[in-house]
Amino acid sequence: MELLGKSKKELRDVCESLGEPAYRGGQIYHALYAERKSDVRQMTNLPARFRQQLAAEAQVTLPGVKQRYTSHDKSVRYLLALSDENDGGRQRPASVEAVFMPSEGRQTICISTQAGCAVDCQFCLTAQLGLIRNLTAGEMLGQVLIALEDASSKAVRATSAVQTNVVLMGQGEPLLNFEAVMEALGSCSIRKAWEFRRST
Ligand code: SF4
Repeated sequence: MELLGKSKKELRDVCESLGEPAYRGGQIYHALYAERKSDVRQMTNLPARFRQQLAAEAQVTLPGVKQRYTSHDKSVRYLLALSDENDGGRQRPASVEAVFMPSEGRQTICISTQAGCAVDCQFCLTAQLGLIRNLTAGEMLGQVLIALEDASSKAVRATSAVQTNVVLMGQGEPLLNFEAVMEALGSCSIRKAWEFRRST
């Protein structure tokens, strides 16, 4: 079972289905989105016994970082490989891009909502790919988590960012993947990651 992309309510339901109190769902939510723990066994706010059980039942699948391009202004562009498991059997490998852009007083993360795009704007290179597939809510959130985790290290940490913006301006037309986009935004998981980032 994939945990990334689940809302707090869904995580509470998962816990209950595993015979645990529902409030453990809130603990997983915090570990996943605020502490950015992608290994269930590292979610130390859960009892060791439950971590073991959860690790046997569930996983957190972040996109794989294929390339990381860092600019002189500390912007970082990521080329990310998506899991084949979400491609609905089409078996066409999907990669997307995300960009982290720090500046004085704010930082912006640009994420993709689809791999490729069907809209066919004449000026756009992505259009040449056609639509490969829609991203899941978890794959959108994964881009934010990767960028924030990276930014919490050395060079970018020095910036006094006070506001984080997420823009859906990477590959794809968000309104053509409306349900998953709303799931990612509406779950508040992204906001959780921002709030925690501001406090660290
Ligand atoms: S990614 Fe954006 S600009 Fe490119 S084809 Fe799709 S809608 Fe047009």
